[in-house]
Amino acid sequence: MTAADSMQMEDQFGAHNYHPLDVVIERAEGAWVYDVGGKRYLDMLAAYSAVNQGHCHPAILRAMCEQAQKVTLTSRAFRNDQLPLLLRDLHALTGFEMALPMNSGAEAVETALKAARKWGETVKGIAPGAAEILVCANNFHGRTISIVGFSSDPQYRHGFGPFPAGFQCVPFGDADALRRAMSENTCAFLVEPIQGEAGIVLPPAGYLRQAAAICREHNVLLVCDEIQSGLGRTGKLFAYEHEGIRPDVVTVGKALSGGFYPVSAVLASREVLGVFRPGDHGSTFGGNPLACAIARAALRVVVDEHLPERSADLGAHALARLRQIRSDRIVEVRGRGLWLAIELNTPARRFCEALRDRGVLCKETHDTVIRIAPPLTISRADLDWGLGQIDRVLRDLD
Ligand SMILES: *Cc1c(COP(=O)(O)O)cnc(C)c1O
Repeated sequence: MTAADSMQMEDQFGAHNYHPLDVVIERAEGAWVYDVGGKRYLDMLAAYSAVNQGHCHPAILRAMCEQAQKVTLTSRAFRNDQLPLLLRDLHALTGFEMALPMNSGAEAVETALKAARKWGETVKGIAPGAAEILVCANNFHGRTISIVGFSSDPQYRHGFGPFPAGFQCVPFGDADALRRAMSENTCAFLVEPIQGEAGIVLPPAGYLRQAAAICREHNVLLVCDEIQSGLGRTGKLFAYEHEGIRPDVVTVGKALSGGFYPVSAVLASREVLGVFRPGDHGSTFGGNPLACAIARAALRVVVDEHLPERSADLGAHALARLRQIRSDRIVEVRGRGLWLAIELNTPARRFCEALRDRGVLCKETHDTVIRIAPPLTISRADLDWGLGQIDRVLRDLD
């Protein structure tokens, strides 16, 4: 089937809830993907950081194939031998007492919100139905109705109401606004340590540390959504480590499976995750043995291949290189680790299309921002080649 046939078929039979770049990928390896015509492209998006470990990592592939031949799904009506191993590995790696496995990132966020509300009622003593959760302007936490209900992006909300109550939005990066929004009914503050979908937006230095202190003062759970920022992307295992804090609850997803399978989890203390009793919450696929075997292998790659350190080193190099580009189109270059943004004063889409034509895959976010987030396993030479293409395209299309 040609690329044109493939795209036509997708558009005829599939809902149009995405506007993809027109490249039809057939296979991938490491930082490179190949289209149906055999042309190769450097992947500078890494599936929104789900493939931090690089495409089709052989160790994760092996774990997946071996487990798929044994047992894939038991449901949690029965126990399986892989779940405890993943839970132990998550504890050993992150220090959190407990984890609750789910599938998509949005499900992990929903689970964290449910845990926070129930903790608010049963531990903090908030009246039933009165718990409030604070969130940030320009947040992105997924696409369920409750999550888009507290989005500040009108497109994410439009047509999908009514939405659940009990969420209040505060400006991102403003500790005083957070303090003012606290009440005795506040049970949690949900925040991305660096806002990804908003365009790799870094809060002012010290913000997370202040937020953690304000939450502690008010007996409010600090919930960090590390689904995109976590597992090495920013140069640390978790982005919150840059400020030396420890959140009460962390959500992980995306790279938790290295891109093989949807696996997410909520990490927290026994006090928080202990609020769930049998039957309170669940998921048919959550914690299944295939997911757990994959996630364990994916975490091992993060550690064994020193992905946070690679991200820090390569990211600093890339940031310096991008800041040398002279173009009237560039408003700002920013980022942390291998998670970089070039903000333009013009729509970024045509730059992404020109990059695709030169063999580099990037995707615009919020219209004017080019996000650079290759697999953390990318070689320095491949990264330099990609940065060179970006330089060319920004200067040529100027
Ligand atoms: C991608 C993302 C999610 C949602 O994950 P899905 O797997 O798409 O549901 C939630 N939070 C953040 C910060 C994300 O980047």
